[in-house]
Amino acid sequence: MWPLLTTYSLIIIISSLFITILTGGFGMTIAGIGLLMFLISLFIEQPKPNTPDDITKKYCTYCIAEINRTEKYCPICDSIQD
Ligand SMILES: [Zn+2]
Repeated sequence: MWPLLTTYSLIIIISSLFITILTGGFGMTIAGIGLLMFLISLFIEQPKPNTPDDITKKYCTYCIAEINRTEKYCPICDSIQD
């Protein structure tokens, strides 16, 4: 189960109800996509965040450059790392 995808699919289904009132068929298509997302989210697991092969490295949270794990600031874009 992928809880965030389930949440998003429910939001899509609810908003598609309003779109259906306004546009008809188009809203039903969106509802179908939302329903598909809901079903998929029940059967798949949340993907793990991508990590570099080298365990001493990590990806910058802002520019995705490969940097040292100990780095407080990214040397490429100067953004703070958590
Ligand atoms: Zn960066």
